[in-house]
Amino acid sequence: MSLGNFNLHHPATVAEACALGARFGRQAAYLAGGTELLVDLRSGRKSVAEVISLGSIPGLKGVRAIAGGIEIGATTPLAVIAESPLVIANFPALAEGIATMAGRQVRNLGTIGGNFSCGVPCSDTPPIVCVAGGRVALVAADGSEREVAAEKFVLAPRVTVLQPGEIVTAIRLPNQPAHSGASFQRFSLRRGSALAVASVVAWVRLEKKNIAEARIYMGAVGPVALAATQAAASLVGKPATAEAFAKAGDLAAAEAQPISDLRGSADYRRDIVAVLATRALTAAVQRAEGGDR
Ligand SMILES: Cc1cc2nc3c(=O)[nH]c(=O)nc-3n(C[C@H](O)[C@H](O)[C@H](O)COP(=O)(O)OP(=O)(O)OC[C@H]3O[C@@H](n4cnc5c(N)ncnc54)[C@H](O)[C@@H]3O)c2cc1C
Repeated sequence: MSLGNFNLHHPATVAEACALGARFGRQAAYLAGGTELLVDLRSGRKSVAEVISLGSIPGLKGVRAIAGGIEIGATTPLAVIAESPLVIANFPALAEGIATMAGRQVRNLGTIGGNFSCGVPCSDTPPIVCVAGGRVALVAADGSEREVAAEKFVLAPRVTVLQPGEIVTAIRLPNQPAHSGASFQRFSLRRGSALAVASVVAWVRLEKKNIAEARIYMGAVGPVALAATQAAASLVGKPATAEAFAKAGDLAAAEAQPISDLRGSADYRRDIVAVLATRALTAAVQRAEGGDR
């Protein structure tokens, strides 16, 4: 199938982009790397008359230090984020997670703003940003700015909080406390360009040898990135042992809401979640013990 006929716009500022988006409403789509949108247009899943490119807007690209953390511009390519010294220093699990996504060509084009905005349940960066306590920065057509907690951004498959004309301008990650660490673990049916069957990202903060705080998020096993709250709560105040991780893995599997599809059955996905959660917790604790977040 062809991409269909559309007018391509190249706004030079966020304000112009938002104004175009508000003017054309549902007839328009923003274009960042195009690795999701162009597939949707070609397959007929989506059809729009106006495509608004965000690629010429300065300031939406790049990783920078901000008060209390780092800010990743929405149109920063995934490959750039994976190699960013600021990301690696602040939250290496994000860099590692991105390195497991797609293939190099898609990572060179695809952006973090697009990975969030498409609202796809198997998108890999949202659970990682959620576990980091990250936030999504948005600008609306009237120029107003707002920040939404990453876990509140996607409402349902392919449905986000974005209003007509509104765009994601950045993803913000807070500085992490001492003796904390995170790890992202993902399973796909082959190495290289394959979507996740399931993913789990775990974050822990240690006090002496005990787990003082824990957070676990799961991807591709629910309508949105899901918090495994009972699994995380089961670890708090406990020593970091293989038994505690296995129990948390079982609880996470029970909290998952997987569907059966081409990539795996719901039961298979639950089994994978239990294994991935155990691995993620083990690696997160090692990272927290090593002082490397
Ligand atoms: C072969 C292949 C393999 C892939 N593998 C993976 C994978 O392993 N893991 C994974 O998570 N994804 C994967 N994807 C999906 C896709 O590459 C990612 O979701 C990517 O991050 C999308 O970013 P993009 O910039 O290309 O988005 P685009 O395609 O440009 O946009 C996606 C959607 O978001 C909207 N949008 C984009 N940016 C903004 C913004 N700043 N504000 C508001 N709306 C916006 C667009 O209008 C569109 O609806 C894969 C895709 C392909 C083709």
